Amino acid sequence: MRCALLISAFLLLAACQPAAPKAPPRDPLAPYRAALADLPPEIPARAEAAPDRFEALVRAVSAAVAEDPFLLRRVDKEKALPADYEPGDLALLADYPFALSRRDLRLRKPAAEAARELDAAAKADGVTLVFSSAYRSYGYQAEVYARNVRRDGQAAADRVSARPGHSQHQLGTVVDLGSIDNTFAESKAGLWMAANAGRFGFSLSYPKGAEEITGYDWESWHFRYVGKDAAALQAEFFGLQHWLLVFLERLFP
Ligand SMILES: [Zn+2]
Repeated sequence: MRCALLISAFLLLAACQPAAPKAPPRDPLAPYRAALADLPPEIPARAEAAPDRFEALVRAVSAAVAEDPFLLRRVDKEKALPADYEPGDLALLADYPFALSRRDLRLRKPAAEAARELDAAAKADGVTLVFSSAYRSYGYQAEVYARNVRRDGQAAADRVSARPGHSQHQLGTVVDLGSIDNTFAESKAGLWMAANAGRFGFSLSYPKGAEEITGYDWESWHFRYVGKDAAALQAEFFGLQHWLLVFLERLFP
């Protein structure tokens, strides 16, 4: 009896103890704040507004980067690929049911497979996508750039073509569609791509009005395969592909 009393007294005492201080709420953005710093303020603001969604997408994209470091590699006027970088998994697009302007076009296998899905969806909507350019080697890009410089001068060439090593086409994950000029934007295929490309993991690299940031004039026809999670991360948080790539470069230097 005495023993039971003692136990009851102890329990009563325990119940009266102040509750242990609560652990601070988990902060899903903590690992990413440094990489988000000094990006345009609307980007961290969007992340703060939906931290769990942001974290889930960044984790999915990080896993993709760990598996395939070139998939989301930043390549632009500042950042070059090694001259000898050539993807090991280039697939001939003539082996796919695509409309091609050249028979020798190649894309990396993951991009080609995603393009198959994209192309089938376009066809189901009565839209034909014509693949006009895809993988370009360092050497080929050197020729293209030199030709543009001869024709238009260096400043004009730099607005529309990349110096060798600086072209996203060397990644083997980029397609140019249709006319390769901005009449494409108003074409049936261009309108369809603007509305649907992201669903299939394709991202417009050089949108209208972003030349100051991307370094390139508007290219309504140039789409980079980034994967569905990265396309969603871009659409929901980063806006421009460029900012997404800058952010990922900081996470995976
Ligand atoms: Zn292009």
